[in-house]
Amino acid sequence: MKIGLPVGLFDRVVNQLSLVDHLPDPVLRWGGSVLATLNILPRDQASAIKALWAPRVREASIVFVKMLAKWLIAARNAPREGKKVILMPFNFPPELIHAFDNAVPITSEILSTLGVAALRGQGERYWDMVMGLGFPDHLCSANAIELGSMLGSDDFRPQALISSAPGGCDVNSKIHEFVSNYLEIPQFFLQKPPDDSERGLQQYNIYMRTLISQLEKFIGEELTEEKLRRVIEKANRCVELSLELWDLHKAVPCPVPNIFSLLLYATRFAMWGTDEGIKCLETMVALSKKRLAEKAYPAEKEVARCIWCYTSYYFDFLNFFNWMEERGYSHLADGLDFFFPQTIDTSSMESMIEGLALSAWNMPMTRPMGAESMSRSWTEFVIYAAKDLGADCVIYCGHHSCKQTWSVVSILRNELMEREGLPLLILQGDSWMKRMTPMSVIQQEIDEFIKNVVARKSRGRRKPRKRRPIRSEPVKAD
Ligand code: SF4
Repeated sequence: MKIGLPVGLFDRVVNQLSLVDHLPDPVLRWGGSVLATLNILPRDQASAIKALWAPRVREASIVFVKMLAKWLIAARNAPREGKKVILMPFNFPPELIHAFDNAVPITSEILSTLGVAALRGQGERYWDMVMGLGFPDHLCSANAIELGSMLGSDDFRPQALISSAPGGCDVNSKIHEFVSNYLEIPQFFLQKPPDDSERGLQQYNIYMRTLISQLEKFIGEELTEEKLRRVIEKANRCVELSLELWDLHKAVPCPVPNIFSLLLYATRFAMWGTDEGIKCLETMVALSKKRLAEKAYPAEKEVARCIWCYTSYYFDFLNFFNWMEERGYSHLADGLDFFFPQTIDTSSMESMIEGLALSAWNMPMTRPMGAESMSRSWTEFVIYAAKDLGADCVIYCGHHSCKQTWSVVSILRNELMEREGLPLLILQGDSWMKRMTPMSVIQQEIDEFIKNVVARKSRGRRKPRKRRPIRSEPVKAD
């Protein structure tokens, strides 16, 4: 450790999770439950532990936390084992990096979320570090918290970085680019072309192939067909399980616990294509099926079925996921669950690379936000998910840095109401920091929306307006 520099987010999180990794499941089950009841932890940490160790989700949480521990410990140990750690944003498929024997992926946004959920003081000190360097405060806390830690503290450093945000999100691209320059580590790109046709996808395939050969050179290892197939077969199992979980959400009341929305995409963005990822998804599916069979639901009845059209809130798990569920407000999915998984044909190297490129193309942020028309694409995703899962309302968290979603959310609201009669609640806040809007205010707004809009709608007072074609395309001049 360098004297004078604060400890980084990665090191603090990995220290905590190393302990978890050593504990047998029964001890972890008992220890977490005791911690959740004793009220001795700082509030920030207590919220995550109480939410994850609630008896109805505990079994899945233990597998999930152990999976993340394994992931982070592999990254921490990688340099001394001669492996390279590759940092990437959440919209890049980690299974590609898992396919290399000598590389380990870490994901900026998962690290930020872990810091916010597990550390005393959450991610605020690291956000302040990046602000202290003179960055504007419209950076996205999702990635700036972890990257702030790398820039301003004695934190763990990756050996290279993949930026897959160009074309999808400017602030995400720019902060990753800055880190690459500042830390003097190479950056590899996977850019979404501004063309949603087959031609655009073909171009994206070429970019994916170029990226793979750049990675092979950098890592010093050939990505053989056998290595890729080994991981893609496991990724395909993850796809099947995630689709099963998606279908389970359709039952009324929803048998899938609210917090599984987060657990699902954290698995997608970190451990897809690994044995630990499969085990985590299997446990989530089994618990949800059990709840379905027992007709168990944490509230007296399901009052509302909500889709969150982009991110949720991550600074107070207990008073967000668990609070909603205990009031009968099912959180069916949020925008990060819209990664539209498909199994990949493993018959050849070509088919697997094409399948990987399509997985990356379908990632949240890449496909809807990097589309030719963001409003049209986002609207189509939300309507598809809302109809398929039987949602009766949609909520936008209003994540403050996300200027691009803010710029089209009023179009989304109009389209949802006019085409499907679905009301959209627009909130204000920062998904990763409590400084912007306290959870009590968010709860109050959700409560009022559900009581005054959603409940009335389901009593038949509000009807869908006449359907008309989408208006998000620019009007062409004569
Ligand atoms: S939440 Fe918005 S600003 Fe943040 S990375 Fe995603 S698209 Fe970019």
